Amino acid sequence: MNLNKEQSRIKANDNVVVTAGSDRGRRGKVLKIGAKRGRIIVEGINKRNKYIKPGPESPKGGTANIEFPIDMSNVMIFCDKCKKGVRIGIAYKDDKKTRVCKKCGKNLD
Ligand SMILES: [Zn+2]
Repeated sequence: MNLNKEQSRIKANDNVVVTAGSDRGRRGKVLKIGAKRGRIIVEGINKRNKYIKPGPESPKGGTANIEFPIDMSNVMIFCDKCKKGVRIGIAYKDDKKTRVCKKCGKNLD
C-alpha cells in the first residue's frame, strides 16, 4: 500500500471525515491507530457485527456491533474552521513541529 506522509500524520483523538466507502461523508474521532500500518479505528465508522464466543461475560455468546479498522487513506482530518476534511500542513512553532490546516492555517494539534 502506498502510504504518503500526509496520511501518516493522523493520530488518535483526531477528528476525521471519511472520504470513501459506505461511511463516506461521516465524521468521527480516531479511537485507535491500528496495529497494522495504515489502519485506524474511527468512532462510529465501519461498524459490523462481531460474533462473541460464549464466556464469563456472555454465557450464551452473541454478537456485538463494533468498529472495524479502516484504511487511513480513506479519511481526511476535519478542520473546525473550514468545516470540512482538509490536507494537513506542517508548521514550526518554537522549533516544534505542529500540524496545521493547509487551507486556513488552523492548528490541528
Ligand atoms: Zn481549515
